Amino acid sequence: MRIDKMLANLGYGSRKDVKKLLKDGVVKVNDKLVKDAKEHVNLEEDVVTLFGEVVEYKEFIYLMMNKPPGVVSATEDHYERTVVDLLEMEDAIFSPFPVGRLDKDTEGLLLLTNDGQLSHRLLSPKKHVPKTYFAVIDQEVSEEDVTAFKKGVMLDDGYVTKPGELTILKTGLRSDIELTITEGKFHQVKRMFEAVGKKVLYLKRISMGPLELDETLELGEYRELTEHEIKSLL
Ligand code: URA
Repeated sequence: MRIDKMLANLGYGSRKDVKKLLKDGVVKVNDKLVKDAKEHVNLEEDVVTLFGEVVEYKEFIYLMMNKPPGVVSATEDHYERTVVDLLEMEDAIFSPFPVGRLDKDTEGLLLLTNDGQLSHRLLSPKKHVPKTYFAVIDQEVSEEDVTAFKKGVMLDDGYVTKPGELTILKTGLRSDIELTITEGKFHQVKRMFEAVGKKVLYLKRISMGPLELDETLELGEYRELTEHEIKSLL
């Protein structure tokens, strides 16, 4: 690939900007100064540096974030801070976007990528990718709720949900539960509990398909997926 194309693809500016960087003498390939925009690089073998820092070429980026409350799952928003605002520049240049949405107050597993095909597959209603949530509910959750969710409950707009698997972890004045659903309707978990007269006080996604939230990530932290995790999704 041409060096100017590689650097422009990586988000270091337009071809014109990149040409200027090359002219300024800040780009090296295998320790050799390169000023010619037409120079070809072998993406597998050559080591490219910009201002002395190694430039890693990859087409796709896959990030797992432990989404904090108070930020929206979007790439940009006029009023609110977005999950993309939490990314370091070196990751943001790949233009990743969140795969699906979590509500502003929901925490937990959020995948960000620039791989449109993967995102499409994970979100396609036909694929029924399971998503598991941990939630705190404002009152007792009963076996009747487990049965109702298994059958499907009617949401406020008349939609009847597909079967959901509800596990009661702890119940009392408040309850801790896990719920696995294979759809992604707007506010689905909150609306499913509303359908049985209950309120979600806290919501966190803990898994999506084969991907599990890395609990060592603090809220707002993220990391690249491992090769193994990427393979499990593809
Ligand atoms: N269901 C909800 O109600 N909110 C979320 O953020 C995700 C699922």
